[in-house]
Amino acid sequence: MDPRDPQQLVDYVGSLDCIHCGLCLNTCPTYRLTGVESSSPRGRIHMMRALAEGAIEADADYADELDFCLLCRNCETVCPSGVQFGHLMEHARGALEPRRDRTAFQRLGRRVGFDLLLRDRGALRFVAVVGRAAQRAGLVGLAARIAGPAGHGLRDAPSIPPASERTRLPVFTPALGARRGAVALLEGCVMPELLGATNRATVRVLAACGFDVHVSRQHVCCGSLHAHNGEPAGARALAVETIAAFDALVDEAGAPLPLVVNSAGCGSHLKELAHAVPGEPDHERRAQALSRRTLDLCEFLARGAGAEGLAALIANVRARDTVRVTWDDPCHLLHGQRIRREPRDILRRVPGVELVEMEAAESCCGSAGIYSLLRPDDATRILDPKLEALRATGASVLVTANPGCQLQWAAGIRRAGVGVRVLHVAEVIDEFVLSAASRPGA
Ligand code: SF4
Ligand code: SF4
Repeated sequence: MDPRDPQQLVDYVGSLDCIHCGLCLNTCPTYRLTGVESSSPRGRIHMMRALAEGAIEADADYADELDFCLLCRNCETVCPSGVQFGHLMEHARGALEPRRDRTAFQRLGRRVGFDLLLRDRGALRFVAVVGRAAQRAGLVGLAARIAGPAGHGLRDAPSIPPASERTRLPVFTPALGARRGAVALLEGCVMPELLGATNRATVRVLAACGFDVHVSRQHVCCGSLHAHNGEPAGARALAVETIAAFDALVDEAGAPLPLVVNSAGCGSHLKELAHAVPGEPDHERRAQALSRRTLDLCEFLARGAGAEGLAALIANVRARDTVRVTWDDPCHLLHGQRIRREPRDILRRVPGVELVEMEAAESCCGSAGIYSLLRPDDATRILDPKLEALRATGASVLVTANPGCQLQWAAGIRRAGVGVRVLHVAEVIDEFVLSAASRPGA
């Protein structure tokens, strides 16, 4: 591909699916913030087309509109014309990246992030150790104060757990009780460093539902952050590694195991993994096979043997108290994977949980992968109305199913001083079902 050719900068054929109806505008978080057409899905598609037709340049304004988009894909859900906006945006960002005007510092930051940290678990671990020490010594808070308004991202940086919580998952955890089968579990890249508790709860839930849980020691990152942020070469390399890692985890008959994913962003990417290996028939075929056996945890626990295992667990539990919880849809679960009903059904069945709907639960929280790190002010402006909606529910627990959303909500709740806990759906089952079942007299 010649990145100097404007026709190569966008998926021009895909952009022609847009019929300009405007139905997507009011679902778009960035359009709702600005009211400006160029910050809407239709406006962005119009710019992509104009670029391909030579009517505009790939200038700083164009690049900024690409960056401003959350890639939440809310526009896809409402589009009557089937526009694949997520794919259009990934293509546009990837094609523009080689000709972007970035400072040397920005280029270095991207190489460290995409080529080192997300490719090497040792490097990621080292950063977690140093980051934890800096947070404990108050250096991160100090740096945020010195940076003033520009230190917003540092102020909201997730607190890194102690080393005792940053342990890797075991490669094998046997099913408890009646065995129903075996699954592979995606451990994730940042999950073990920031949300190891969620991963461990996921393993406990799957094992208690009757499934052996296998984890790949070799696998680091699935490449979704690369694909979303203009790094197609990195996304391709990690897709190939991901396919190899999970093709190697097989059942007694030698068939690859179903892959359960507790991160909606990763699950959405894995279900469309063939996009990351275009023009490579063997890898495309294996990517499609992996996509077919990839299941979000909510999907797995709401259907078939997973649902039977969860029902058997729940049958043993009686709640002592009722806790009001609310659910926030991760964009890559709802808009990327079209999974809406399953998490709600699971939560309604958990003894002691009263599920209340939150207004605008289907709208982005502003996390969007690394968006909240790169554009913290925009991410905060997108979350703020949702914090008000959370208060209005009266819930004491907010449940979601994606690491970025968990961290974004935790930061917003801390900032706003709202007394609400943030839990992954696996942690709700772990706490309200598994822990309750082991209580005397339960
Ligand atoms: S992906 Fe989200 S932020 Fe981007 S244009 Fe679509 S609705 Fe707007
Ligand atoms: S809803 Fe679809 S077809 Fe209509 S303007 Fe938006 S992207 Fe274009």
